[in-house]
Amino acid sequence: MVSEKGQSRNVCVIGAGPSGLVAARELRKEGHNVVVMEQSHDVGGQWLYEPNVESEDPLGRDKVLKVHSSVYASLRLTSPREIMGYTDFPFLIKKGRDMRRFPGHRELWLYLRDFCDWFGLREMIRFNTRVEYVGMLNYGEFGKDLKWIVRNKGKNSEKEVEEIFDAVVVATGHYSHPRLPSIKGMDAWKRKQMHSHVYRVPEPFRNEVVVVVGNSLSGQDISMELVEVAKEIHLSAKSLNITEGLSKVISKHENLRLHPQIDCLYEDGKVLFVDGSWVMADTILYCTGYSYTFPFLDTKGIVVVDDDRVGPLYEHTFPPSLAPSLSFIGIPRKIIGFPFFESQARWIAQLLSGKRTLPSWDEMMQSIGEFYQSRDLAGIPKHNTHEIANFEYCDSYADQIGFPRLEEWRKQLCISALVNADVNLETYKDSWEDDELLQEALQSPHLTQLG
Ligand SMILES: Cc1cc2nc3c(=O)[nH]c(=O)nc-3n(C[C@H](O)[C@H](O)[C@H](O)COP(=O)(O)OP(=O)(O)OC[C@H]3O[C@@H](n4cnc5c(N)ncnc54)[C@H](O)[C@@H]3O)c2cc1C
Repeated sequence: MVSEKGQSRNVCVIGAGPSGLVAARELRKEGHNVVVMEQSHDVGGQWLYEPNVESEDPLGRDKVLKVHSSVYASLRLTSPREIMGYTDFPFLIKKGRDMRRFPGHRELWLYLRDFCDWFGLREMIRFNTRVEYVGMLNYGEFGKDLKWIVRNKGKNSEKEVEEIFDAVVVATGHYSHPRLPSIKGMDAWKRKQMHSHVYRVPEPFRNEVVVVVGNSLSGQDISMELVEVAKEIHLSAKSLNITEGLSKVISKHENLRLHPQIDCLYEDGKVLFVDGSWVMADTILYCTGYSYTFPFLDTKGIVVVDDDRVGPLYEHTFPPSLAPSLSFIGIPRKIIGFPFFESQARWIAQLLSGKRTLPSWDEMMQSIGEFYQSRDLAGIPKHNTHEIANFEYCDSYADQIGFPRLEEWRKQLCISALVNADVNLETYKDSWEDDELLQEALQSPHLTQLG
């Protein structure tokens, strides 16, 4: 429902990555007072590259991590730049910068800085400010609007500062805290074990025998750069049914071998796979993905993370009992991120101003229940609850909140990059066959809007 009503709220956004930045922009546009708290010294979230990871526990098991970004030095975007940008700020090629279609990570960071400058967002951001606690001030007080206590701490300060807000938007990302497998012997294994969260460059692995666990994006990418320096790379995958692209890479490199899952790790460095094969390894590198965690958030058990299902969340955004004063941006995975975050941000901003309203609590809970049930029936494991991979969902989300649907060329370019990666893993970022679609994109109102 839409109305013309426009109340201004005091809103705290946690995080100045791609989700938090667009949240700040949309909230201010809607007339709210916004403070963004960011623990790092600059904007960008994951895209603010951090080369120094020495202080981090190699398996990233600490509840509060010292390093947020999991981006490694050689990382290039997996999607073409044309599809990445927010709807009103295309990710354009700039002279003198990384002009590739699939640029390196720094280019996306520069884009985010440009976005910030273009919309004058920096003045809303408190850098070097970590949120330590978020809780409800007056939970259970009948007839009163919920208010939120936010306790935060400056980087060089011992003192916690407490502030009260009408609403909190959590935009803290979910690619930092390692999701580790549980493998027999893992705690007894004496040699190097680390998660891709702390991987930066291949050089420390020179002449080593490395077991890479997990063959999704990071596992494949890191293995492909380790082949140049390591003695052997043993890629352990859940299924040996791999893509044509990965098969081609493996057949090209003698020192890269595919294995099934690990059965057991032994103290002397032996790694035994479930098919009975084994190697003596120097390092095990877990490329096993990341977990959702909100160590600062106290909702009295209303929002819980259960095997990477953050819930209950209506449309991955609002806990029905606390909506709209508590919201989450950026929870879904396998979507075209930036425009989706933007649509979430606009919805939150308009709900807080009273311009829109949510369905009743019962309806929201029912919708969440039906969603969980449909995922269960489709055999999707709980830890993939927020993995969308479905443009229809993005369209219906947009329709529900009056946001423009993704352009057809964005969807098609996304699919053609995925297909190309499946077949030509080593080359898809430099060679493609979707030129016609690309031309359509380049002439679209989105990519030409800034002239
Ligand atoms: C290796 C890797 C490759 C990727 N490749 C791609 C890609 O090619 N394309 C793509 O679209 N996406 C990719 N992603 C996903 C990427 O995370 C998203 O693009 C995007 O960064 C998500 O934005 P976000 O703002 O939700 O989270 P983040 O970028 O993680 O930002 C969250 C921000 O919150 C801050 N924060 C966290 N906790 C607190 C706290 N308690 N107090 C204050 N501040 C806090 C952090 O410092 C950070 O700045 C990749 C991720 C990784 C790790």
